[in-house]
Amino acid sequence: MPDKIRVLLIDDDEDDFIITRDTIEDIPGRNFLLDWSSSFSEALDLIKEGKHDIYLVDFRLGAHDGLELITQAVEGGSMAPFILLTGQSDRETDEKAMRVGASDYLVKGTFDPFSLERAIRYSIEHAKNLAEIQKLNSELEQRVDARTRELGEAVKKLEETNRSLYDAQVEIRKALQKEKELHELKSRFVTIASHEFRTPLSTVLSSASLISKYKTTDDDEKRQKHVERIKNAVSHLTTILNDFLSISRIEEGKIYNVPTTFDLNEFTAEVVDEMQGLVKLGQKINYTHTGPETEVTLDKQLMKNILLNLLSNASKYSGEGKQIFINTEVNSGIKLTVKDQGIGIPDADKVHLFTPFFRAQNVTNIQGTGLGLNIVNRYVDIMGGTLTYESELNEGTTFRITFPKHPTTA
Ligand code: ATP
Ligand code: MG
Repeated sequence: MPDKIRVLLIDDDEDDFIITRDTIEDIPGRNFLLDWSSSFSEALDLIKEGKHDIYLVDFRLGAHDGLELITQAVEGGSMAPFILLTGQSDRETDEKAMRVGASDYLVKGTFDPFSLERAIRYSIEHAKNLAEIQKLNSELEQRVDARTRELGEAVKKLEETNRSLYDAQVEIRKALQKEKELHELKSRFVTIASHEFRTPLSTVLSSASLISKYKTTDDDEKRQKHVERIKNAVSHLTTILNDFLSISRIEEGKIYNVPTTFDLNEFTAEVVDEMQGLVKLGQKINYTHTGPETEVTLDKQLMKNILLNLLSNASKYSGEGKQIFINTEVNSGIKLTVKDQGIGIPDADKVHLFTPFFRAQNVTNIQGTGLGLNIVNRYVDIMGGTLTYESELNEGTTFRITFPKHPTTA
């Protein structure tokens, strides 16, 4: 036998209780247990206990009404079915009852055992379905929440992946660009080098074959002349190769700034001495150092290369007998100036001056590769210095370099 259905009648009129009790007792099967509460607050407590399967609530409850009771019970979390009992059929009350959460509405005196049983059965079933739907709903909500969280995390991860992919792409693009530049530089070098190498190589070849023809001691002087030519050509080839090697190493990031502390005045005087033997007839390199301070902290090797390049340009692009001035100065920074009285640089060529292999239009009959200044400029950059110059055509050129007093090592 199934459990009995527990019904609580909430009604302040004992007569109503008796009528309802009788009606319920007349329901075939006698499957119901009826309790009765006549007080609003007691009824609320009983509802909270939740021991009944259904509540029959009278519309009139002393100072309160049934709608109030149902409202408070539902707000208190009750999911049980409520049937509102009223004295007369009234559509407005019916709708209100439905809105506050009642599952049915019966007019007292009009219902018989059969319709009461039916209303109770439907209401209980309806409440069960509702509870099931609510359970499903909340499960669904939980699942949606969990899924939303998972999706949020997935999106975050995707965004991170995206960001690192983007960074990688930028890196690759940079590397590719660098690779492309290096490749262009190398192929340009091959073209120019094959052209540049031809002259000294044919000098070597012709001088060598001439030497083999000078057999007597009388030919000693001529032989010597050709040996000198071969030496010059070979040293020129070596210079070109060394320059190219330097640029390659700069491009590959293999040139490092390694500063040491030394006396700039002594150091420059030595380099000037070395260069003095290589300048044109009558040319003189005048070196001065300004101020009492001479100690600097710079990369000596890079510094020597810069000096040799600037001094060799000053000599190469000036006529015989011209003066070359070099000045160093140490105060809040380190300054180096190389000034000549040479052919100058045409204005139109100035923008390209530091481009590898670039040579101005007024130097076509002077030997050179166009790599020296590019190397100087990049060494200065690696050493954290700045390079400026000014030049007047047929008047002369001045290069100025400044380095910070305290170097930043790269
Ligand atoms: P190398 O690679 O053998 O040094 P280069 O002297 O031609 O060859 P850079 O030293 O790079 O190459 O100089 C580039 C160009 O700048 C020169 O070809 C020349 O046109 C111009 N130039 C450089 N220094 C001077 C100078 N002191 N006076 C006039 N022109 C100069
Ligand atoms: Mg040069």
